[in-house]
Amino acid sequence: MSLIDADVPTIDRQRAQDYLRAGLWSEERIADSLRAARLRRPDHCAVVSRTARLSHGELDAAVTVTGQRLRGLGVRAGDRVVVQLPNRTEFLVLVLALLDIGAPPVLVLPGFGDYELGHVVRAAQPVALAVTSGTKRTDLVESARRMREEVPSLAHVLCLGDTRGEDVDLAALCDPAAPWDGPLAGPAANPATMDDAAVFLLSGGTTGPPKVIPRGNAGYAYMIRAAREIADVSQDTVLLAVMPAAHGFVMNCPGVLGTLAAGGTVVLGDPTDPRQAFELIERERVTHCTLVPTVAMQWAISAAETTADLSSLRVIQVGGARPAPELASRIRTVLGATLQQCYGMSEGLLCYTRLDDDETVIVETQGRPASSMDEILLVDEDGDPVPDGTPGELLTRGPYTVAGYYRDPGATAKAFTPDGFYRTGDLATRRPDGNVVVNGRVRDIINRGGDKIPAEDLEVMVVRHPAVRACAAVGVPHELFGEVVCLYVVPEDQEPTLLELRKFLRDLGLAPYKLPELLEVVFALPTTAIGKIDKKALRADIARRAEA
Ligand code: AMP
Repeated sequence: MSLIDADVPTIDRQRAQDYLRAGLWSEERIADSLRAARLRRPDHCAVVSRTARLSHGELDAAVTVTGQRLRGLGVRAGDRVVVQLPNRTEFLVLVLALLDIGAPPVLVLPGFGDYELGHVVRAAQPVALAVTSGTKRTDLVESARRMREEVPSLAHVLCLGDTRGEDVDLAALCDPAAPWDGPLAGPAANPATMDDAAVFLLSGGTTGPPKVIPRGNAGYAYMIRAAREIADVSQDTVLLAVMPAAHGFVMNCPGVLGTLAAGGTVVLGDPTDPRQAFELIERERVTHCTLVPTVAMQWAISAAETTADLSSLRVIQVGGARPAPELASRIRTVLGATLQQCYGMSEGLLCYTRLDDDETVIVETQGRPASSMDEILLVDEDGDPVPDGTPGELLTRGPYTVAGYYRDPGATAKAFTPDGFYRTGDLATRRPDGNVVVNGRVRDIINRGGDKIPAEDLEVMVVRHPAVRACAAVGVPHELFGEVVCLYVVPEDQEPTLLELRKFLRDLGLAPYKLPELLEVVFALPTTAIGKIDKKALRADIARRAEA
């Protein structure tokens, strides 16, 4: 049972018992493993970022003080704190401190705009919201301040950068050497159970605005432990995080948390220029990194010309979208590291190719589940199982896959079957050797280099433009990103331009990566026999235009 937050859906009791009996679940929380690792080798380097280099001991001091200060601000076990920050030391210290005091961070990608952030804040009802200023998108700090006025639970804006008025200065909050005249509160027992949320991740795989996913303590700790073994992460690991660490793939597969829990080192970088990344790899002797295919592709191209010493690299995890087999086979040759394909989702299931798999498995498949107790079903449109080798929608449940969304019974009922399987919306094939190949999406999602754009979301916003009568968004193949958004628009009297529409959507607060990159103005949208917009015909049309 979830004790401190009744809104966290709990996994079926019989299965929970099975996971406990099998030794997968335990009372250990990820915060416990992280703290133990910080104390084990206090002098070993824990974090390197643009601005700081902290040993595990120094990191522990920062995490402890930040926890006291947060508790002094009134943050209690079970409270949510929404965190939208780039890969900076303060981000890491804040997240670790929140785990420590049992106040689950809600991790929001830095690329999310006003629209997505507002939705998350309304759903999570946090006590605090951490944002950064000083970027092009300072407007988010302004929105955070506005939200503080509008959302009754939201007491504090923690601001990294230009701190004003009632904002809490996040850099000071996270720095034990900085003066702090706010109240302090010592450690308190954390009453959270195995089912209570350790963190909240956001959904990327289903339709609609992001849904809030409560990742329960027991499952989360187990998943990170299992992933550490599969990726061979140890105290000697040096992980380079150049993709946003707020994404589950970078945070917990085993990622930043798994590396720190093993006593290793995390190098926090900025996205994602290969030259800068290569300098960091050479300087810090990086062993592991986690990339989406588009970035892996840029690295593979640049590696052919670099003089940087990349010989420390051992494992490159690629996931978030499916890499082309040619890219997959290039990675080992060009970067000299083992490719580990990863397929998974913030709701749970993780599949990996194993480091000692045959080359063909590594290049051609997205791997197999991390846990022997992960269950996968592949079903046809009627929900009936399909045989191995035939594509079907992948359904899954298991020891670290959640039972539902936070405070969203409607979305939960849609995305989960009555017996607890999560409908991924992914079309996949299982090979006889158990490895999975992802063939695409059942639903209408455009995957721009790993960033998921629900077409419907975008369409709902575009038709609000006065010059748009009707519209449809489809993915169009793109060399670098895999696919980007093409918008088909039926105009009112005056034809809108792509620039106008992009500005309109930006002003509505839509995340920049969701903006359309191509516009086709048409008299009418094609429809199917039952009158739905015929997206197949639109995809064929844009492919034809691209060839012409
Ligand atoms: P997110 O929750 O943001 O991690 O998104 C999860 C979704 O990303 C999955 O349901 C898939 O649609 C997609 N995805 C993740 N990894 C892969 C992969 N290796 N190949 C293909 N699609 C992937």
